[in-house]
Amino acid sequence: MATVLFPSLKTRSVSTPTKLLINNQWVESDSGKMFATFNPATGEEIASIAEADAGDVDRAVSAARQALERGPWRTMSASERGRLITRLADLLEKHAEELAELEALDNGMPLSTARNVALPLTIAHFRYFAGWADKNHGKTIPVNGNYFCYTRHEPVGVVGQITPWNFPLLMYGMKLGPALSMGNTVVLKPAEQTPLTALRVGELIVEAGFPPGVVNILPGYGPTAGAAIANHMDIDKVAFTGSTEVGHSILEAAGRTNLKRVSLELGGKSPNIVFADADMDETIEGCHFALFFNQGQVCCAGSRLFVEDKIFDEFVEKSVARAKRRTVGDPFDPATEQGPQIDSVQFEKVMSYIKSGQCEGAELLTGGNRIGDKGYFIEPTVFAEVKDNMKIAREEIFGPVMSIMKFHDLDEVIARSNNTTYGLAAAVWTRDIGKALAISNNVRAGTVWVNCFDVFDAAAPFGGFKQSGIGREMGEYALQQYTEVKTVTIKM
Ligand code: NAP
Ligand code: MG
Repeated sequence: MATVLFPSLKTRSVSTPTKLLINNQWVESDSGKMFATFNPATGEEIASIAEADAGDVDRAVSAARQALERGPWRTMSASERGRLITRLADLLEKHAEELAELEALDNGMPLSTARNVALPLTIAHFRYFAGWADKNHGKTIPVNGNYFCYTRHEPVGVVGQITPWNFPLLMYGMKLGPALSMGNTVVLKPAEQTPLTALRVGELIVEAGFPPGVVNILPGYGPTAGAAIANHMDIDKVAFTGSTEVGHSILEAAGRTNLKRVSLELGGKSPNIVFADADMDETIEGCHFALFFNQGQVCCAGSRLFVEDKIFDEFVEKSVARAKRRTVGDPFDPATEQGPQIDSVQFEKVMSYIKSGQCEGAELLTGGNRIGDKGYFIEPTVFAEVKDNMKIAREEIFGPVMSIMKFHDLDEVIARSNNTTYGLAAAVWTRDIGKALAISNNVRAGTVWVNCFDVFDAAAPFGGFKQSGIGREMGEYALQQYTEVKTVTIKM
C-alpha cells in the first residue's frame, strides 16, 4: 500500500495498492522489480508499483483459466453476474471523489474532467453492461429436416486487455464492462504511466465479491507484460486501445500464435468540418473543445479542422482568441481547463510536431512554448494555413495543437477528409441538413457528430474504420467482441 497525499481537497489522502492483483490476492511480481508512477504536473514520483512481466502474466492467465472453467463464475447465473457488476458500479459511485482525485493526480487531467466526465461515464458503462448480462441470448433456428437448432452466446474465454493512459478509468468501464457481462475472465494491463486507479478499482472488484481469478490486474510495461499477453497461447482474445503501431504488433502476435480474437481501438486524425452557415460562436467553442479537451490527448480529437473559405479569417481570429483565454495549470485548481501532458516522452513529441509545423511553413498564431519549468505543460497552440501534406496535418499529435485548413466546396472537403489512413471520427458544423447528411454518409469514420463533438454514451458504439481499429466498443455492438456463437443441432 502507498498513501498518496493530495495537494487539496476533501479526500486529503488515499491508500492505494501497489502490488499485482492475481486470483484476488495482492502479490509481488516474480522478479521483485518495481517501477515509479509520476505526477505529470510536477514530474515527482507518487508511488512505486510492482512491475509485472511474462511470468506474472502466466500466473494470472492460469488463475483466469481456472476461474473460467471451474470456479463459481462458470456456474453463476447471468443475472447474478449483472448484479455483481452493478455492485461494482455502486462502489465506484461511493468512492467517486477519491477516484477522481487519484486519476487527476496520476494522469494530470483537470480534476473537473475526472469528476464530471471520467467518473460518471465509467460508472455508466458498468451499469449499462450489467443490464446486458442476462439479455444477450441466442436464437432458435427453423432449419430444414427434423432437427431442433439453436444458438448459444458463450464467453470467448480468457481475455487480455491492454489499456492506454489518456482515460484510464473509462477504459476499464469500456473493456471490463462487456467482458464480465458476457462471462469472460480478464487479465488487464493498465498503461505504465497511470496504474493507480486500476489498482484501486481492483480493490473494489474484490470488495464487490467477484470470485478469485475473474479479474487480474498487472501493471507493467508494454514490450514485456503487454507483449506477453499478446503472445500468450492460453489467452483467447486481446482487446487493445493505444497507438496504431502497437495495434499492428498485437495483430501480428495473434497471427503468429493462437489466432486469438483481437479488437483494436487505435489512433485518429479526425476531420472537423465547418461550413459558413454554422452558428459562429457555438462552433468556435465546439471546435476548441474538440481539439483541446483532455490536453489534446483524445484518440478522436478534431485535429484536422477544415473551415469554409468564406468565414476562414473570422473563424481563425476567434479560435486564436479562445485558445489564448484557455487556462492552463494545476489540475486541482477548479479554474483549470488544461493540465500537463502525460509525461516527458509525450511532451517532447508534441513539441517536435510544433517545430515541424513551423519548419513546413504553417502559420503559428498563438502558443508553441512550454509553460513553467516543472511538469509537462504546453501552451494552447493554433496553426493556420496548414496544408494537407504537412506532417501536422497527417500524423496524430495527441497534444494541444490546432491545425486550421481552408476549403471551398463539399466534394473537395469530403475527398480531403478521406485522404488519411485513419477513420475514427468526424464532425460537421452546419445548419444545412443536406450538407450534414452528405458528410455523415460519405466520410469514412466510425463516428460522425453533427453540430457537436465528443458526445459519448455507454449505449452508442465507438470504434474505427481503416487503421483506426477493428471492432466496436460500447453499446450492444461491444457484446460481439466478447461472445462466441455456438450452434447446437438436435435430431428430433
Ligand atoms: P502505446 O504504446 O500504444 O500504449 C498503449 C498500451 O499498450 C500501454 O498499456 C502500453 O504499455 C501497451 N504497449 C506498448 N507496447 C506494447 C507491445 N509491444 N505489446 C503490447 N502492449 C504494448 O501508446 P503510447 O506510447 O502510450 O502513446 C503513443 C501514441 O499512441 C500517442 O501519442 C497517441 O498518438 C497514441 N495513443 C492513442 C490512444 C487512443 O486512445 N487510441 C491512447 C493513447 C495513445 P506501456 O504503458 O508500457 O506503454
Ligand atoms: Mg502517473
